[in-house]
Amino acid sequence: MEVLSALEPIVREVIEPAAAQTDSEAVYPRRSLNALADAGLLGLISAKEVGGMGCGLREAVQVVERIAQDCPCTAMVLTMHYCGVALIEPFAADDVRRAIAEGRHVTTLAVSESGSRSHIWAPTGTADAQGEVGADAVLLNAHKSMITSAGEADSYVWISRASQGEGNMLWLVDSRLPGLTVPSAFDGMGLRGNASSPIAAKDVKVFRRDMLGADGQGEAVKGHYLMPYFPTLIATTSVGLMKGVLRRAVQHVAATRFAESGSSLADLPTIRAYLAKAQLQADQAQLLRDDAVNAVLAQRGDVRTRLLQCKAAAAEAALGVTDTAMRVCGGAAFRKVLGIERLFRDARAASVMAPTTDVIYDMLGKSMCEAAV
Ligand SMILES: Cc1cc2nc3c(=O)[nH]c(=O)nc-3n(C[C@H](O)[C@H](O)[C@H](O)COP(=O)(O)OP(=O)(O)OC[C@H]3O[C@@H](n4cnc5c(N)ncnc54)[C@H](O)[C@@H]3O)c2cc1C
Repeated sequence: MEVLSALEPIVREVIEPAAAQTDSEAVYPRRSLNALADAGLLGLISAKEVGGMGCGLREAVQVVERIAQDCPCTAMVLTMHYCGVALIEPFAADDVRRAIAEGRHVTTLAVSESGSRSHIWAPTGTADAQGEVGADAVLLNAHKSMITSAGEADSYVWISRASQGEGNMLWLVDSRLPGLTVPSAFDGMGLRGNASSPIAAKDVKVFRRDMLGADGQGEAVKGHYLMPYFPTLIATTSVGLMKGVLRRAVQHVAATRFAESGSSLADLPTIRAYLAKAQLQADQAQLLRDDAVNAVLAQRGDVRTRLLQCKAAAAEAALGVTDTAMRVCGGAAFRKVLGIERLFRDARAASVMAPTTDVIYDMLGKSMCEAAV
């Protein structure tokens, strides 16, 4: 609750007023991040021993959900930051952890590649230990396809193939290292301020001291430290977004009247039924997300299923709910003034962000069928 009361004025005074311009001009939400940093919220899940707030998943969910109601773009940048921090905290040196805790350092996840596409467990980017690079370093080479905060974050939590043997591994990569480039600017349909650009790595020298976990253990490390945060917070951007779009839709239909009769759009039973069905979809997704958080915190046996389900459910619900908001608000929603079409466009991202909804369906269906034999 304390966290939310610190956040509320930032959303009202900084994040919400900037949201339309963040979208229309595709500007990175730097002022919003600075305001969050000043309130200590970039260090929300950093340990108290390095100056962070020492909070966890439940508080991260509250913060991301509130921001997503008014600016899903900022919420997604923060989601990727928290996901990066979840991997940095257990492995990285204290100076980086302290910089994050003090709001001086934004990070992000650099996973997706143009080769592995949605199959993020099979990166093609390499960490080459051969040649003159020395025993304590490797050269990273990769074509990352679409990375939130590309060229804006201070560091990338980077996945590559193992430097020796099978499997993957994770690195903390300083975004200013020579050999890293952002070949093109992000011009997306939604989340337009996200700077979700490609990143190319050409012989980027990184030291083994910046490994996040052991060589070849990338999937296990992600499964342990990242999984609790990643699907839950992406689901949460969708949950918050649905709250935001329904709030705007209800306000509009309640306030908009026919001159002919003086009755409002909200007096139409069809409109009310559409809204009720949309609220039901949003609430179902939120309840599943809440149960996923409970499953993580109680270390329940069904945690993997719940985490994957909550991302898929919230992403798909957001597609339907924003579609309904467009419908019930008619031409007014088609124009930018209500902010509904912005949320409609922003909602498209979550279902195609890895693991995509269709990949999740396949994973869950496979588990069901394997359990039957
Ligand atoms: C706004 C935005 C921000 C992003 N930010 C980040 C970020 O910060 N870090 C990061 O690492 N990545 C990020 N991504 C990338 C994202 O996680 C995905 O990797 C990417 O969207 C997948 O796109 P693709 O074109 O490679 O999909 P493709 O793999 O080409 O998929 C095309 C279609 O095929 C389906 N498909 C693919 N494989 C399967 C399968 N096995 N079973 C069933 N269906 C399948 C997909 O669901 C999709 O519908 C971001 C993406 C977006 C849209």
